[in-house]
Amino acid sequence: MKLLYLLMFFTTISCSTLNSPKLNEPNAREYQVGAYLWFQNSGEYRALCYQAYNFARLRLDRDLEDKHNRKRAVVFDIDETVFDNSFGGAYEIKNNIAWDKNNLAKWIKLKIAEAIPGAKEFIEYAISRQVEVIYISNRLKTDVNDTLDNFKRLGISAKRENLYFLSKDWSKEDRRLEVLKTYDVVMFFGDNLGDFHKNWDSKKSDERRALVDLHRQEFGDKFIILPNPLYGDWESSLQKSNNRLDLLKTAL
Ligand SMILES: [Mg+2]
Repeated sequence: MKLLYLLMFFTTISCSTLNSPKLNEPNAREYQVGAYLWFQNSGEYRALCYQAYNFARLRLDRDLEDKHNRKRAVVFDIDETVFDNSFGGAYEIKNNIAWDKNNLAKWIKLKIAEAIPGAKEFIEYAISRQVEVIYISNRLKTDVNDTLDNFKRLGISAKRENLYFLSKDWSKEDRRLEVLKTYDVVMFFGDNLGDFHKNWDSKKSDERRALVDLHRQEFGDKFIILPNPLYGDWESSLQKSNNRLDLLKTAL
């Protein structure tokens, strides 16, 4: 079945590649190969995900001992926090296709993202303890039905009314504040620092790192981060350069 879906994806993408921004040879995305290989193949990647979700469960159990006047919630980003979309990106890289929002939209429509290790079990546990599970994602509102279908395929519960998708603002801050009006949020889960706080929105790389140091107490407490070396604001926050080698920090 999965093979069929992948064939559909390949066909859909390849039909559109005539219009896709084809990159010049050599493959300009080749630098991402190491990140994808690590993400898709290393035991270490999976272990880090399990570590995040196992720790979150301990943190939730501790919170459940306290009394709250309002309902508890946990807030999740979706992509590379609950869903593994690496197969779509890997296809693009292998075929030297530039990142493109139309291809992303086609990928979402296939509804074949896999689950990030540990996510499903944690979400089921939270629901079993009467904790509301909310998703704040920068997927588009037109992606809601396909996203719900993908959740269903993975056997992960998701309520339509708990999906806060992109409206006008790329920043997730307004949607976070909206959720906080109703719920006591125990933890935020994400793979991108903007999933946690507006402080990280539109910042340069060095500022982002300094802010992480400033918020260090909140990681593993209020903020649970999943590893994502594939893409993210970490990359767009880098200084612009035609040669990524120039951005490497060396001792000499
Ligand atoms: Mg994400």
